[in-house]
Amino acid sequence: MTEVVALTRKLVGMDTVGKDETAALRTLAPLLEESGFVVAITEHEPGRGTLVADWHTGLGVPPLCLSGHVDTVPLGAAAWQHAPFGEVDGDRLYGRGTSDMKGGIAAIVTAATALAGKTPKRAGLRLVLTAAEETGSQGARYVADSVLDAPSGPLVIAEPTSNAVVHGHKGALWLEALATGVTAHGSMPELGENAIYKLASAVTALAGYRFEAGPHPVLGSPTLNVGTISGGLNTNSVPDRAVATVDVRTIAGQDHALVAGALSRVAGLELRPIVDLPPVWTDPGDEWAASVTEIVRSVTGESGEPRAATYFTDASVLTPALGSVPTLICGPGEASQAHVTDEWCALSRLAESAEIFSLICRDWCGL
Ligand SMILES: [Zn+2]
Repeated sequence: MTEVVALTRKLVGMDTVGKDETAALRTLAPLLEESGFVVAITEHEPGRGTLVADWHTGLGVPPLCLSGHVDTVPLGAAAWQHAPFGEVDGDRLYGRGTSDMKGGIAAIVTAATALAGKTPKRAGLRLVLTAAEETGSQGARYVADSVLDAPSGPLVIAEPTSNAVVHGHKGALWLEALATGVTAHGSMPELGENAIYKLASAVTALAGYRFEAGPHPVLGSPTLNVGTISGGLNTNSVPDRAVATVDVRTIAGQDHALVAGALSRVAGLELRPIVDLPPVWTDPGDEWAASVTEIVRSVTGESGEPRAATYFTDASVLTPALGSVPTLICGPGEASQAHVTDEWCALSRLAESAEIFSLICRDWCGL
């Protein structure tokens, strides 16, 4: 078994379903330290750590940053046909987190530990391995606020892309619309003020809203969906409270505060953000992005056409925190396998990914 496969199996064997990321990171920390990284694990909650590892070189160019999340989603209600914490069958490693995204983390760590300690001409490396991505990037947010202050080079996130280069994804702006009124007996509605009527007209206005922005050539157009609505306590009262939630997906160039403001004016109600993850996009013509695409093409033979992910990533938090650095997503997992029963990752993709990361790091570091 190759190093990257063995490491993926080890990580998949540890249950990090919304917990215990620190325990998984403690298996990686010694490998990183032995190879020359300085490692710090910071917990945003007990047991829920995010690892930041720096290979300091003293060179003038800031380090390339590689990132992935250690937590996974639950196994789901359906029974698994394969062992959910790791089983090899042919070219597939089955288990929760194989594709999303312990395979990606293993590829990053395998590549990085083989290079740290060598003598680069340009720069070193930084790894950010996060907790709690699946529940809203709490781990990334925590280190973004407290740890990530040194200048950074570009960022690669090893989320599942079948080793294709992905240039970004839409942003997610979830808003809550609260309408208030005055309650009264249902037989005398003229004495009250009906919150459901206010919310209904707000929701109707939002349903007809057309964004001025877009379409973006790869991300497409922004979208809006009213996902939930509730209000009123009993049939024979005028409701004094009604709430709806709205899921807005934004494209590069849209500012979330301005979008929320425009939608609030259209709705006639204040829309309060409950999730705020900005879009991520790196121009395929960016010099570094083009060099990564070339490297990936040399390994996989893929054309490298610009593409976007359907999911969002920690890059929404990390990219602005690192100084809006160029950002790409490229990892060994299959996007179609994320969160599914009998999730798997191809062993051949894992080997390919470790090679890709090694070449991307060598290129940036000058090795
Ligand atoms: Zn993921």
